[in-house]
Amino acid sequence: SAEDLLLTVEGLVAGYGPITVLHGLDLDIRRGEIHAIVGANGVGKSTLLRTVSGLLQPEAGRVIFDGEDITGMRPDGIVARGISHAPEGHRVFKGLSVEENLRLGAYRRGGDGAKNWAALDQVYNFFPKLRERRMQLAGTLSGGEQQMCAIGRALMADPKLLIIDELSLGLAPVIVEELLHILSRIHTSGGTILLVEQDVSVALGFSDRASVVQSGRVILRGEARSLLNDPGIKETYLGG
Ligand code: ATP
Repeated sequence: SAEDLLLTVEGLVAGYGPITVLHGLDLDIRRGEIHAIVGANGVGKSTLLRTVSGLLQPEAGRVIFDGEDITGMRPDGIVARGISHAPEGHRVFKGLSVEENLRLGAYRRGGDGAKNWAALDQVYNFFPKLRERRMQLAGTLSGGEQQMCAIGRALMADPKLLIIDELSLGLAPVIVEELLHILSRIHTSGGTILLVEQDVSVALGFSDRASVVQSGRVILRGEARSLLNDPGIKETYLGG
């Protein structure tokens, strides 16, 4: 039912100037699920995430979050309503400490001091390595630790929906395993997670459901497990 849906995207059209990337994309994210968006390079996955987060204005279509139409809202308003986005490339402010990076995530929510301390403590509980390195400049962290920092910063806003763009990109498999383990703990603690991931096995192996994007539309959706076990999917839709 509509109440079980945390995010609904309807007929989304978006792009960059004259270039249209999303051509009427529809997407449903259920409350409490891990949902993967998969598709070949350049099909518009990051563009979708940017539009949902308010970083890009759609030309047409609607984004409904938690029962509210958030289409065209500014990014800070969308964060305040409960969508946090860890962008592609595990971006951190390299010249700031780990803790300063994390605090910027809370700043965007504008919460009070006590709440922010609790949020920081919770992030450190999920990522003990970040606690150890909290005074260290983020630019000196390993790639995996920078990804932890980027996800931790998104968590500081206490999101209802955590969006992660390219979790595994450039990271060793053992680090990806560690990140997935932490993400399942975050999920168990009550989060809904939207994961964009170029590694199809990682994405489908970890998620409840998935949507396959091709040419700016969702052309297939279903249980992640059954998509993973479908031998045709990979060759047909994922460029591999
Ligand atoms: P990837 O995994 O390679 O990032 P993607 O599915 O996330 O793929 P997008 O990043 O959404 O794809 O890009 C979709 C299309 O939009 C691509 O053709 C890309 O070249 C183009 N594009 C992305 N960002 C911009 C931009 N800022 N200006 C112009 N075109 C862009």
